[in-house]
Amino acid sequence: MSITENLAQVWERIERAAQKSRRTADDITLVAVTKTIPVEKIREAIEAGVQHIGENRVQEAIAKYPQLESYPIHWHLVGHLQRNKVKRVLPMFDLIHSLDSIRLMEAIERHAASENQIVDVLVQVNTSGEISKYGVSPEDALELISRSTGCEHLRICGLMTIGPLKGGVQAARASFQLLRRIRDQVLAEDIEGVQMDYLSMGMTGDFEVAIEEGANMIRVGTAIFGRRE
Ligand SMILES: *Cc1c(COP(=O)(O)O)cnc(C)c1O
Repeated sequence: MSITENLAQVWERIERAAQKSRRTADDITLVAVTKTIPVEKIREAIEAGVQHIGENRVQEAIAKYPQLESYPIHWHLVGHLQRNKVKRVLPMFDLIHSLDSIRLMEAIERHAASENQIVDVLVQVNTSGEISKYGVSPEDALELISRSTGCEHLRICGLMTIGPLKGGVQAARASFQLLRRIRDQVLAEDIEGVQMDYLSMGMTGDFEVAIEEGANMIRVGTAIFGRRE
């Protein structure tokens, strides 16, 4: 199957899942996750209609960025961000999905202020409790978000989570419901400057469940590009 055909299937799956929750595919942003995928294949995806791409390693994104700069696409950083890389990522990415600590938030604020830039971020929450995952714990999410009020160069636009590796659909659903509940708690607090526009959740194996549970941004790699090496 070609990337174009894969994409058509993914969009069809998105449409069906969206309809189940009385929405349409237009409400869902598809981020094509391009880690390890060569630039030619990314171009193919863009030509087939992909508008958002997600990279998870800063180094890799830096290598690909100049080769794709001419396309009007949005860049998402979906992987962990180290504080010493903040300066390099700010000019490249439109949305950082992986804010997970107060120290990282402060580093982003500092660099964004010095560049006179406002950086859009999502707070990554570890909803599965799997220790291999980054992300702030569900208990600490609200505290982290409350602390953003002093950060005028950083805009929290929503939440991100990675579903559990184990436990199938049920565990995935529980994870996504938890993220949605945290979103609702944050909204109830009405924290100045904080928006909850995006719930970034769902990957190849679980994006339909995520959409049913309220995801409006999904991150899909394998279903578009095939298995990674
Ligand atoms: C790799 C990756 C994805 C995409 O995973 P697939 O299972 O290939 O769809 C999504 N989100 C993050 C954070 C990733 O690292």
